[in-house]
Amino acid sequence: MLIVMKFGGTSVGSADRISQAARLAVDAAAKGHRVVVVTSAMSKVTDSLVDAAQTASRGKWDPALRAQLFERHRQAADAITAGNSDDREQVLAQIETQLDRFEKLCFGLSMVHELTPRLLDAISGTGEMLAAPLVAAAIRSAGRASAPVLATDVIVTTEQFGGAEPIPEATEAKAAATLRPMIERGEIPVVTGFIGATADGVLTTLGRGGSDYSASIIGAALSADEVWIWTDVNGVMTANPGEVPDARSLAEISYSEASELAYYGAKVLHYKTIVPAFRKKIPVRILNSFNPEHPGTRVSVEGDTSTLGVKAVTSIRKVSLIAISGTGMQGIPGIVAKAFDVVAEQQANVLMISQASSENNICFVISSSEAPRVVRALKSALEVELLRGHIEEIADQPVAVVAAVGDRMRGTPGIAATVFGALGSSGINVIAISQGSSERNISLVVAEGDATEAVRGLHRAFALDREAAATSR
Ligand code: ADP
Ligand code: ASP
Ligand code: MG
Repeated sequence: MLIVMKFGGTSVGSADRISQAARLAVDAAAKGHRVVVVTSAMSKVTDSLVDAAQTASRGKWDPALRAQLFERHRQAADAITAGNSDDREQVLAQIETQLDRFEKLCFGLSMVHELTPRLLDAISGTGEMLAAPLVAAAIRSAGRASAPVLATDVIVTTEQFGGAEPIPEATEAKAAATLRPMIERGEIPVVTGFIGATADGVLTTLGRGGSDYSASIIGAALSADEVWIWTDVNGVMTANPGEVPDARSLAEISYSEASELAYYGAKVLHYKTIVPAFRKKIPVRILNSFNPEHPGTRVSVEGDTSTLGVKAVTSIRKVSLIAISGTGMQGIPGIVAKAFDVVAEQQANVLMISQASSENNICFVISSSEAPRVVRALKSALEVELLRGHIEEIADQPVAVVAAVGDRMRGTPGIAATVFGALGSSGINVIAISQGSSERNISLVVAEGDATEAVRGLHRAFALDREAAATSR
């Protein structure tokens, strides 16, 4: 089989973790598989790169940051290449080259004070370029030929900096030219996750958490047999285990369930990951690099058809509910269209929409970081309606979206009743509700402070901690 394996930040967070990741790749190769590795940056590195860019754009550049990044990667390089001074020199030279580039970009930014999305990508994508030489060195020291590969030579994207989209045909051609010869030679390429480049070669990123997406894009481009996402939990679980301690791993889910879960906030998968794999029907596995014996989760066309009803509960945080309300809105055509034109102009991504049947109120959920400017733009575009009193208020409030997801919710009666019963008995007020027409999810808007209790309450109400109980619903 040809397997594309992605290692997340905690799975390459230290020399020990990188050596373990290398062992997992080499073990698969030893079983006769051809392996392509995709690596994230070491844990927290991307956050500090983004911070550095923001600080530099305010005119400050602290050279200590370069030293810190060098130190962390040097220590890992020393441990990984112990006893092989040529390899050590080579890896350190690659790290220095990336840090030189990073420093120049930040220094320039501190002079011009303007952080464009393009420049932010150039800076925030450095972490993967620092990690790939380390992972490749660890694979070499575990006995297999390996070399780092920049995804700028593999994934061709649109120019949407900060959230670029792959161009499949161009990516297939580049992936074939760059990766196939290495695979044929029996090498394990280690591709930088998270980044790509436009057709003109300008570095882009696929969005935060995007290395999962990289693995799926590369898997599809190479028509891989499987894509394995190595992370720090036992696969996709019935809820975020950090929030719900008795969350359980799901052995098998469908592509559509995986997409819905990721879209509604399950950080374990970047929300676009499933798209390329689904296009080629490539099975995706989510595995725990800290517990590789655990079978994790398999994502496939069918999923687990024996489990009815809700399979998992997720939440999206740091979002705001924008409500446009007024008794005079009723029957006045065009207000909704006008409002959504404004949202589109502001390039805000609407996560959920709900309209009261009385037509007195429309509300929608967007990222909190976009809320102030969207509200300002709405107030200005709907000024006349506000003056005339057709609209009384345009308000925003910080909220969370909580979603219950499962393919076989469709046709399972009583789910809404269970949802409202659970939230009612926990004293949680539901601000808005929306059910996807696919009937694969019910999503609810609750006050930010109620989100954890809402997730836990739903998890309990659907007995998701218990396998047997879950199958009976
Ligand atoms: P990586 O660095 O490997 O990409 P992430 O931190 O991006 O890992 O994603 C894994 C984390 O996702 C887990 O540690 C867990 O806290 C979180 N998570 C949220 N929802 C879920 C879920 N439903 N199942 C599993 N993990 C989840
Ligand atoms: N390193 C990137 C991030 O932290 C991409 C990833 O880890 O998936 O967002
Ligand atoms: Mg991730």
